[in-house]
Amino acid sequence: MTNYILALDQGTTSSRAILFDEAGKIAATAQQEFPQIFPRPGWVEHNPHDIWRTQRDVARAVLDQHKVRASDVAAIGITNQRETTIIWDRATGEPVYNAIVWQCRRTAPLCDTIKADGFDWAIRKKTGLVTDAYFSGTKVAWLLDNVPGVRERAERGELAFGTVDTWLIWNLSGGKLHITDPSNASRTLLYNIYNGSWDEEILAYLKIPAALLPQVRPSSEIYGETVGHILGAPVRLAGIAGDQQAATFGQVCLSPGMAKNTYGTGSFVLMNTGDSGVRSESGLLTTLAWQLAGQKVVYALEGSVFISGAAVQWLRDGLQIIKSAPEVEELAASVESADGVYFVPAFVGLGAPHWDAYARGTLVGLTRGTTRAHIARATLNAIALQSKDVLDAMHHDSGITLSALRVDGGASKNSLLMQIQADLLGVPVQRPAVTETTALGAAYLAGLAVGFWPDVGTLAAQWSIERTFEPRMSDTERDQMIAGWQRAIERAKGWENG
Ligand code: ADP
Repeated sequence: MTNYILALDQGTTSSRAILFDEAGKIAATAQQEFPQIFPRPGWVEHNPHDIWRTQRDVARAVLDQHKVRASDVAAIGITNQRETTIIWDRATGEPVYNAIVWQCRRTAPLCDTIKADGFDWAIRKKTGLVTDAYFSGTKVAWLLDNVPGVRERAERGELAFGTVDTWLIWNLSGGKLHITDPSNASRTLLYNIYNGSWDEEILAYLKIPAALLPQVRPSSEIYGETVGHILGAPVRLAGIAGDQQAATFGQVCLSPGMAKNTYGTGSFVLMNTGDSGVRSESGLLTTLAWQLAGQKVVYALEGSVFISGAAVQWLRDGLQIIKSAPEVEELAASVESADGVYFVPAFVGLGAPHWDAYARGTLVGLTRGTTRAHIARATLNAIALQSKDVLDAMHHDSGITLSALRVDGGASKNSLLMQIQADLLGVPVQRPAVTETTALGAAYLAGLAVGFWPDVGTLAAQWSIERTFEPRMSDTERDQMIAGWQRAIERAKGWENG
């Protein structure tokens, strides 16, 4: 009898291991942080050995602490910080350089060159992405150009490139598997999401040898197994998805039009668009969501909001009008409305669908009657309004009407915020019982591959809602709020360049 699925959730600041039982409930968790490396302003690195060591250790710890043997684990599913780039030696497993983290801006000048060449349009057309330092492709090019000997070794086929999923599976399998899945491949800037292959034209443009690249396998399939000594016995490796796509799967957004929003530091909205990749006119990303074994690949539209929960952190640390993030709810609830106050938390510019790098934070509509409670309320409104803008853009691009929004992440615990979100969208907001949706998604993918769960219908039946927020705002009130928000956004735009 195998009783559990083990999800490995390799995040930007910590590695986590979570055991899920057959009911999809969390049986045990272990977590370990690891160092962030900032060699220069705007540069962010991780030591790949730290990533592997912490991930292996938490996997061992979660089994040890709960007296679960490796033979009780039906399979392992992996989810990971996306886009982070590692190149290592195939013979020794030794990385040639630190991992270049998704946040790292070192390749911004290369991205400017790509745009000046007009090649960004080819990239957009083939990969669904915008040309930005965020994605892996230019990071690979940087390593080839800047680390001595790496280009020659890569051309001789001695090196392997991988995102974090690939690096972990390489290590877990003792160097047997050099693979990734469509959700991770679609974030590299090198993968043609419309024909499902590494793109020769992009590789040639960025001068990246194809010999570096991993094989792309479905997100749910038995790939192989772990080397016995790692966990005490071999365990099957059977699921891979990047964190946001895993969360979408963990929210069981399995049919077109289903969407999830993760409210953390920023917000990440993903909408399932089924087996067609929707080309966005609003600057959203078209991305691959997942692929189940023997099935077609599933596409998604993705939009992110840079500052959402971070605006609440600013109320706490910058303005100091609350002592803890959860306090914002009570303070905001102490007033009926924001009383005409609008807060646009464009601290680092505005993302989709406004795309204005020069926008800055703006607080408008202040009167003598404005209190910190109104500002708190305006902050929650802003978090919900920014997400609404992204979902409206998804509707505009795809023609798909949202039926409900599934939510997770730290700020989704805020019930007033969730109510405001439902009011603004005019559709129910569903908060699930298991909010560890990222790890759950990875577990689901692995569990499906090995028959731990028989089919996706079982997952849909098992997934349960902790609370649904039904829209109840009047149309007039909603229209007024949206009109005010649009005016506030216009005030925030272009601030930085006068
Ligand atoms: P991340 O994974 O990006 O670190 P989390 O999912 O842990 O984010 O969520 C933390 C964020 O959520 C913080 O920005 C915090 O300000 C915000 N947050 C936490 N609790 C609440 C709450 N009750 N209401 C509003 N925001 C909250």
